Amino acid sequence: CGIFAYLNYLTPKSRQEVLDLLVTGLKRLEYRGYDSTGVAIDSPDNKNIVMVKRTGKVKVLEEAIQEHFSGREYSEPVLTHVGIAHTRWATHGVPCEKNSHPHRSDDENGFVVVHNGIITNYNDVKTFLSKRGYEFESDTDTEVFAKLVHHLWKTHPTYSFRELVEQAILQVEGAFAIAVKSKYFPGECVASRRSSPLLVGIKTKTRLATDHIPILYGKDDKKLCTDQDADSGKPQDIRPHGQSRELPVLPRSESTSEF
Ligand code: GLU
Repeated sequence: CGIFAYLNYLTPKSRQEVLDLLVTGLKRLEYRGYDSTGVAIDSPDNKNIVMVKRTGKVKVLEEAIQEHFSGREYSEPVLTHVGIAHTRWATHGVPCEKNSHPHRSDDENGFVVVHNGIITNYNDVKTFLSKRGYEFESDTDTEVFAKLVHHLWKTHPTYSFRELVEQAILQVEGAFAIAVKSKYFPGECVASRRSSPLLVGIKTKTRLATDHIPILYGKDDKKLCTDQDADSGKPQDIRPHGQSRELPVLPRSESTSEF
């Protein structure tokens, strides 16, 4: 499958333009998977996240987007946007709308996630979260990630968006690339990968991204992990040196005793 995310800070763009960019990105990635597709972008008031998902090819999504988004609110230029998009090749759960990405943490779309690859310990994470009241609406491995970030957000209110995703990454196993957007962190997007490829393009007025940057994190674009970490295939502690946290939230004893 393919994940695609877009952040805009420099030039005002309308939501329609952002949607066009997301669809163009998906078209380029479509060869990697094409059973279903979806996008998430900011709502016109910037307070919520709107998602459109469809079973089928990007063309079907494109038509759905045109039907769904129209009017002045979508053509008016605004400065900050974050959009994420996905073209799926199902591994867990049949191709259908409820299994299409993005997946969400809760009814409010607090955190929404697009994901390429497999979270191999998703059953453990699901059990952990179910015990804490989370209900799941899809059959995918991906949905656990959105809900895990939400759980961390509730239990660690001081964490930045990046820290939340970092800590969630520490709990999951497998090979994947992931991009997360949140209504609680408008204008930010966190992306990460382990063993799967993730390409980051940065266009700014002041500098070019000549260095290889495996991870892009919205505002301060600090690296979350190195290539070497990411390619080792093992869960990595990707916290910046010198910082310690009391996690993991998912004790290994809990995950192993039940499976
Ligand atoms: N494992 C995820 C799913 O089945 C992502 C599959 C993909 O890479 O498209 O939804």
